[in-house]
Amino acid sequence: MPKPQPSTRIRTCRACGTKYEYPLREDPAATRHHCADCAPVPAHLRKVSERLLLRLQKLELEVARLKTTAFPGK
Ligand SMILES: [Zn+2]
Repeated sequence: MPKPQPSTRIRTCRACGTKYEYPLREDPAATRHHCADCAPVPAHLRKVSERLLLRLQKLELEVARLKTTAFPGK
């Protein structure tokens, strides 16, 4: 059941991680969870993309952690 949105707000796309405003008149394809680029992508492909994005985010966190432990003070 889609709930009515109170107002436009910044959302993060689940599939590609991009930030977008939703709802946005210029991007009618965008949904609550996916930007205008990813919304038309078939669901099974979006799922793969979501999985890869999660891995990417984990790696980014790990890189940030390694940077601070390997090069403290840099
Ligand atoms: Zn996207």
